[in-house]
Amino acid sequence: MPELPEVETLRCDLRPRFVGHRLERAEVTGPRTVRRHPPELLAQLHGDVLAEVGRHGKYLLFQWASGRALVAHLRMSGQLLASEPGTPLARHTHAVLWFGGAGQLRFVDPRTFGELFMASSPGPQVAEIAHLGPDALAAGAGYLVAELARRRAPLKSVLVDQRVLAGIGNIYADEICFDARLRPDRPAAALRPVHVQRLAASVRRVLAAAVQARGSTLADGQYVDLNGQAGRYQGAHMVYGRAGQPCRRCGREVARLAWGARQAYACTHCQH
Ligand SMILES: [Zn+2]
Repeated sequence: MPELPEVETLRCDLRPRFVGHRLERAEVTGPRTVRRHPPELLAQLHGDVLAEVGRHGKYLLFQWASGRALVAHLRMSGQLLASEPGTPLARHTHAVLWFGGAGQLRFVDPRTFGELFMASSPGPQVAEIAHLGPDALAAGAGYLVAELARRRAPLKSVLVDQRVLAGIGNIYADEICFDARLRPDRPAAALRPVHVQRLAASVRRVLAAAVQARGSTLADGQYVDLNGQAGRYQGAHMVYGRAGQPCRRCGREVARLAWGARQAYACTHCQH
């Protein structure tokens, strides 16, 4: 599932390619992808010029000259691909945006959990994502100290709770906990402020490094960038998906921890 670094990579690719270009038409062939409202509502954007591409957590926000906003959320397997008109559509292409002079933006999603929708009101504030916490790259240490102090859930469960921090999922939560030398299964409220400050630094460090490497593409190959290329950060994973392999810091075995329906990879020697 694409997390903040993958979505940010897409945002950085989308801006130079499509911003400033006019939408000629939007074609929806997979109604489940546009399921919050009648797919025909996308026709409101015909003739509109893409003004900016923003991001909050895992959500991409296409802002238009009219003030309207189109929101994309890739969830499990969604992909956004830039293509030239006339090139064959990939299987599971559910929506195509035709831009004058910039080709097509295609929404491809085998598992169809991803979605596209028009924000219910114009302007930069999108009501549909108002429940999200601050973007993980923008949240300060003070905010995290206060939020974690009142949550008894295990640290990883809090890190992936989008109402607390927007953008972190399974991969980066494990990598962040390892970087901060904290066990993902320890109760968040039991962390001392000095630990949370270390955690906040790890959130920024790990996410920034992953953005730099254009995100993580796992063995399933589901995440690719706007041009269909894989990311490179998977090669830098310290613990995620590495159960039984030697810890890259201490050489002992990386463990797979589990609680409830959740699991985490961690080195129980390096992380406390
Ligand atoms: Zn270790």
